[in-house]
Amino acid sequence: MPPSTVDLHSHSTASDGRLAPAELVALAATEGVEVLGLTDHDTLAGVPEAQAAGRGLGVRVIAGIEISGRWPDGQCHLLAWLPAPVPEAFLAWTRERSADREERARQMVARLQEAGIAIDWEDVAREARGNIGRPHVADALIARGAATDRGDAFTRLVGQGCPAYIPSGKLEPEEAIGIAVRHGALVSLAHPYSLGLDGDDLDRAIARFAAAGLGALEAHRGDQGPAQQAAYAALARRHGLLVTPGSDFHHAGRAERTLGDDGEPGIAPADLERLLSRLPGAP
Ligand code: AMP
Ligand code: FE
Ligand code: FE
Ligand code: ZN
Repeated sequence: MPPSTVDLHSHSTASDGRLAPAELVALAATEGVEVLGLTDHDTLAGVPEAQAAGRGLGVRVIAGIEISGRWPDGQCHLLAWLPAPVPEAFLAWTRERSADREERARQMVARLQEAGIAIDWEDVAREARGNIGRPHVADALIARGAATDRGDAFTRLVGQGCPAYIPSGKLEPEEAIGIAVRHGALVSLAHPYSLGLDGDDLDRAIARFAAAGLGALEAHRGDQGPAQQAAYAALARRHGLLVTPGSDFHHAGRAERTLGDDGEPGIAPADLERLLSRLPGAP
């Protein structure tokens, strides 16, 4: 029998979540999540703490990462779940990705300064406890009084198409997929809608990624309804891919991102069984 609740997409303070890894795992235990993928943006730094907490609480924590691929017209986020122990060479590769993120955030600060906003690097660094991302830049803007809330900061300053926007991810998606797969990962395309493609264009992109080693699509998210879940499940079937469930939880109170929620109808039991048989580090 597969576990009843599997959530393979979540964030902690190792990137832009608001709970420390151990706090996240404690919440998972409370919510009845039995298998939790910790998938912080471009880092595995929260995994050891989460796995230690999981051992005490009976939550199986899978070592995961959400890798940003280069995708100028949207976002290409790749979830990769790694075998235990995570290969040292892959950890070294993720440290380069963390450095890319810091460089990008510094460039964003420079753009904001050029736009006449009083903000410096220390303001942003202070907001982050792990890998830096746009939510931390947004929080620094709020602290400086240059934005009223994160939504405002994303709408006017750091969102796609805004003056300080710099896309994340320097690597071509195919290259990132290939590296993760070579280290034993299963890779799933997160929130496929964020590629900004549909119809044949989406199909062609998925075919390219599948040829590079993509293994799954995140077809079952808390923020996806029945029509979208069915469409992504069909897309996965056409390309011989697995489907994965995930909430993309960052913090309590963020609408439609409740830990353990994989939306309606959620992953089918047979699909979950197939997934768990192929998931590195899974029970
Ligand atoms: P980054 O990976 O640095 O480009 O930051 C992307 C992250 O910003 C996403 O994973 C979300 O957690 C967060 N985000 C994106 N859009 C918004 C928004 N409008 N308001 C708040 N957070 C957002
Ligand atoms: Fe995030
Ligand atoms: Fe994402
Ligand atoms: Zn995410």
